[in-house]
Amino acid sequence: LTSSSSGPGLHVIHIAAEMAPVAKVGGLGDVLSALSKALQKKGHLVEIVLPKYDCMQYESIQNLRVLDIVVESYFDGQLFKNKIWIGTVEGLPVYFIEPLHPAKFFWRGKTYGEPDDLKRFSYFSRAALELLHQAGKKPDIIHCHDWQTAFVAPLYWDLYAPKGLNSARICFTCHNFEYQGTAPASEIASCGLDIHHLNRPDRMQDHSSPDRINPVKGAIVFSNIVTTVSPTYAQEVRTSQGGQGLQATINAHAQKFVGILNGIDTDCWNPATDGYLRFQYNANDLEGKAENKKALQRHLGLSVSDSRRPLVGCITRLVPQKGVHLIRHAIYRALELGGQFVLLGSSPVPNIRREFEEIAKKFENHEHVRLILKYDEALSHSIYASSDMFIIPSIFEPCGLTQMIAMRYGAIPIARKTGGLNDSVFDVDDDTIPVQLRNGYTFVTPDEQAFNGAFDRAFNHYMNDNESWQELINRVMSIDFSWDTSASQYEELYVQSVSRARAARRAA
Ligand code: ADP
Repeated sequence: LTSSSSGPGLHVIHIAAEMAPVAKVGGLGDVLSALSKALQKKGHLVEIVLPKYDCMQYESIQNLRVLDIVVESYFDGQLFKNKIWIGTVEGLPVYFIEPLHPAKFFWRGKTYGEPDDLKRFSYFSRAALELLHQAGKKPDIIHCHDWQTAFVAPLYWDLYAPKGLNSARICFTCHNFEYQGTAPASEIASCGLDIHHLNRPDRMQDHSSPDRINPVKGAIVFSNIVTTVSPTYAQEVRTSQGGQGLQATINAHAQKFVGILNGIDTDCWNPATDGYLRFQYNANDLEGKAENKKALQRHLGLSVSDSRRPLVGCITRLVPQKGVHLIRHAIYRALELGGQFVLLGSSPVPNIRREFEEIAKKFENHEHVRLILKYDEALSHSIYASSDMFIIPSIFEPCGLTQMIAMRYGAIPIARKTGGLNDSVFDVDDDTIPVQLRNGYTFVTPDEQAFNGAFDRAFNHYMNDNESWQELINRVMSIDFSWDTSASQYEELYVQSVSRARAARRAA
C-alpha cells in the first residue's frame, strides 16, 4: 500500500470521479486512463483514487480485493469508516473508496446527477486525501479533475499539509468550465473546509452571490498548476463570453494556467486491433471499413443497396453545449443530400431527451436514419468504424475526443471552430493551412446556414472526387493523436513545479 516512487520518475496520484473503461461518462474518463498510461510508460509511478460505484464495469478491474485497513474520514462533524479496495485497470493501480456512510453515496446506480452530488464528491475528496495520509504516501503530484474533486486543493493546503501530507504539488485540470459545482456556502463545511476562511471573493466565493461557493474557483486559487484541455479553450475561458463567470479568477492566476490538447488512447481506439469490430482495417486496407459499414447498416435495419451513399455519424451527450439544434438539422440535411445518418446519444436533459425520442420514433423504420438514445460503448466503436463523415457542431468544446477518434477510424470530421475542435480540425479548403494538416470541414457561426456550408462541401467532395476523398481518409487515419506529446507537456509542468518547490524548501 505504501508504494512510493523509487526510480527517477515522479509519484503522481490522480483523484477523480471517472476512469475509462470502469467508470466513464464522457471525455474525463478517457483522459484519466490514457494520460495515466502515458505517464506510466514514461517511467512515473501513477496511482488513481476513484469512488467505488455500484454501477462500475467490474469486469474491467483485475484482481479487485479489499485491503486490510479501514480509513476513517471526517464528514458533517463525525468520522465515518471507508472500506478501501484495490485493483488494476488498464495496467494501472487504482484505489476504490467505499464509504460506510448511511447515505450510500456511491450506491445509486449512476455516476452523477443525484441531488446530493456536492456531498457525495466533497466526501470523496476528503476520504481520498485521508487515504493518502493514513497510508503514508508521499506523492510528488496530486492531480485532481473537475469540480467533483476540486475540493482536494483547499483541503490539502488547509488541512492535510499541516498534518504532514505535504510532499505534493497540486495540479487541477478543468475538463469543462460549464460545470462548477456551485452551492450554498454552508455546504462546504461538511467536508471540513472553513467557510469563513474560504468564502471570500479572492478564494472560493462564487461571482453570482456572496452566499455561494465555487469549488472550481477554489481549485484554481489553491492549486500549483491549473490546466484545461486545449490551447484555444484556454484562451476562450479567459474572456467574458467563454469564462462562465470564472474569467477574472483565471486571469488573476494566468501564470499557472495552461491549455494542453488531450490525446486519445490509441490502444483502445485502433481500427487495426479493435475487438469490438467485426472487421479490422487500417489506412492501407480499407476493405474492412466498408464491411463494417454494411454490417452496421444491417444491424440497424438501414438500406445497404448503395455502398456509395455516405454514412454520417454522431456520438455525443445530448446537451446544449453539443449544438443539439444543429445535430437535429444535420439529420434532415443528410437525407436531403442523399446520405444516411446514425446518432448514438444519451441525454440527462429531459426536454432534449423527449425531443430526440420523438425524432427517433419518427425515423424508427426509416431506411436511412437511425437514432439510438443510450450509452453503448460497443456500438460507438462500430459507428466510428462505419461512418464516412462525423459531425461535431458544438457551441463550445473544451477539447472534444470524438473528432479525433472519428479520424483514427477514417471518418472525416465536420466541426464547428471552437475550443479543442479549432486545435484539431483544419478545413480542407482553407488555403492558409498547410495541405498536410487539412483534415476535415469547419464552420464558425453556430447556425444551420453555416453548418450547411461545411456539410454540403463534404458531401460534394465525397460524391464527386472519390480519389481525393480516399487520400483524405488516408491522411486523417495517419495523424498522431496519441498522448505522447501531451503527456510530455504534463510531465514538464509537474517537473517544473516539483523543482520550484524543492528549491524553495532548500532556500527556507
Ligand atoms: P464530453 O466529455 O463532453 O462528453 P468528449 O468528446 O470529450 O465529450 O468525449 C466523449 C466520449 O464519450 C467519447 O469517447 C465518446 O465516444 C463517448 N460517448 C459519448 N456519448 C456516448 C454514447 N451515447 N455511447 C457511447 N459512448 C459515448
